This record gives sequence, C-alpha cells and structure tokens, in this order.
Amino acid sequence: MLPQPTDGFAWAQAPAGPALVCRALQPLADHVFTTRRWTLGSAAVAIDADWQPVATALNVELAHLVRVHQVHGHAVFVRRAGDRPSRPDADVIVSADSSAALAIQTADCVPLLIADARTGAVAAAHAGWRGLAARVPSAAVEALTREFGSRPGDLVAAVGPSIRACCYEVGADVVDAFARAGFADAAIAGWFTTSPQPSSRNPSMPGLPRPPRSNHWYFDGSTAVRHQLEAAGVPARRIHVAELCTASHPEVLCSYRRDGNGAGRMAGAIRPRTSNRKSHN
Ligand SMILES: [Zn+2]
Repeated sequence: MLPQPTDGFAWAQAPAGPALVCRALQPLADHVFTTRRWTLGSAAVAIDADWQPVATALNVELAHLVRVHQVHGHAVFVRRAGDRPSRPDADVIVSADSSAALAIQTADCVPLLIADARTGAVAAAHAGWRGLAARVPSAAVEALTREFGSRPGDLVAAVGPSIRACCYEVGADVVDAFARAGFADAAIAGWFTTSPQPSSRNPSMPGLPRPPRSNHWYFDGSTAVRHQLEAAGVPARRIHVAELCTASHPEVLCSYRRDGNGAGRMAGAIRPRTSNRKSHN
C-alpha cells in the first residue's frame, strides 16, 4: 500500500519502483520524487551506479544527471549547457539546459523542485532545518530570477516527502537558529509545535518520548518551505506540498531520523523540456 499524498501529487510506477509526481509540474518538466524501493533507497552509502535508475527515469545518461555535494547551506550551482561534469558544494541547482537533469538526495530533509512555466528553467533544492534557516527556498527563486529571467509569479513548486511534526522532535537550538536568522516569531510559531502532530495520513513513528519532553519542539520543514516561497513571490496556488512524512512510512520512504546510518536516500530530480521557450526576454 502506498500512502496517499495530497491531491496535487500522484504515484507513478517507473521500472525502478514507485515515484511521486506533481500534477501541476508535469506539463512543465519531467521529474520524480523516488522512494525507498529504488536502488538508491536501500543504499546507506550510495555509489554512482545507484543513481542510474534516476537518470533512466529522466531519460538522460548518468553523466548528464547533475548532482552536488550537499552541505546544508544555501549555495547555488548554475548548470549551463556544455559545462564539464562537476559536483560542487551546493544545496540548490538551477538550469535551463534540457540535455541534463538535476538531482538532489534526501532522507528527511525537504526536496524542492521548481519549474518556470514561462521560460522552462528549473531548480532542484535540498533543505533541512539548517537550509531552511539559511533560506534555501528564497535562494532557489532568486537564482532562477537572476540567471534565467524568471518571474516568481510564473514558477510552479513541488515539495516532496520530508519529516514532519508527527515525528520530528528537535531541540531549542533549532528554534534558536531561525530566530537568529531573523525570522519573525509569528512565522516560527507556525513551523514548530510543542507536541507531536500525527494524522491519518502521517501517524507518528514509534519511540517518540511520551509525554513530550520540555524544551523540545516538533518541526514541519515543508510548511517553512511553503511560507518562504510565498514570501519570495511564488503564488500560494502554485506551491504543491505532498504532505507525506518520511518517518511515518517505513515501507515506502527513507528516514534518517527513523533508521539512522542505515537509511537509504531518495532522489528529487527534474529536467527542463526541450521545447523550452527562450530563457531571457
Ligand atoms: Zn511522521
């Protein structure tokens, strides 16, 4: 049984396993959010070959699957046609080069894919709490604007599975990081709760402290992504969140918090369309 995402998403059956796709993103750019059942999903230490099914799903050679060395920052890698393969330190990748697909990996952090309905440029981003305190969603929107002439109102964003407030206990250091980064108290209050928030879609994982520990919070990074994208000018109706918690669904999704060092990884990958309109105007 596959867990039910929000209406903006659908399950697709790729040869490598089930993957989530975003209905609104699909007409703009081929993309996948992979699951634990892909080769990568059981790879605690992934080798390049584990990425082959992701490349195949996006119909590119493995050498044209653009990845980065993710460092929980907000640096952006701009991939251009003809670039030599490299894997710089970055957590955001942007491109309008339809010969390549962009991929990030997660196992609780938020995977974010964006496509520009007007120019066809795309972004793939990875953000855990450090990345969200560092405003990764804004960095992705700003990079598309700066590099490819995007207007935030034309962007469509898809937020794949990530650990949510049903399962993700964090300490005061995490809340403090957002306060130090200058986020308003009201915004922070919308991302943290003092007790777990299970739902029929996302039951709490086993082993949470009961009763909830004092001076600890439960964090929903995907809501922080939504709010940061809206603040960057992306219309709320164009932001789609799957609302599936990685830790809640051990059969299907990879979770570092749940499985520790043995956790596999899931890919979020996106490829610009060949029929893209010009990327500047
Ligand atoms: Zn959960």
